[in-house]
Amino acid sequence: MDPTYEIGTDENDNAYIKCLICERKSYHSKDIEHRYCGNCHRFHDPHVAVIQVPENSGWTIEQQGDDIKAEYYNPEEDQS
Ligand SMILES: [Zn+2]
Repeated sequence: MDPTYEIGTDENDNAYIKCLICERKSYHSKDIEHRYCGNCHRFHDPHVAVIQVPENSGWTIEQQGDDIKAEYYNPEEDQS
């Protein structure tokens, strides 16, 4: 089965979900969490994701069973 969506981060470190059916990107965290495309009104199958996160982007995106967990870690906030 071909992937129908992709999760990643753009050049500004914003996490997105991109629907590969209609090519629409969403930056809404709920859309990412639920793998939802508001354009197609479809929930994507969790098992066919393409997850692209650039190294050192600060993002960890994990697939845990049927859930996608996207967390941002900013190292600069850690230095007090
Ligand atoms: Zn779509």
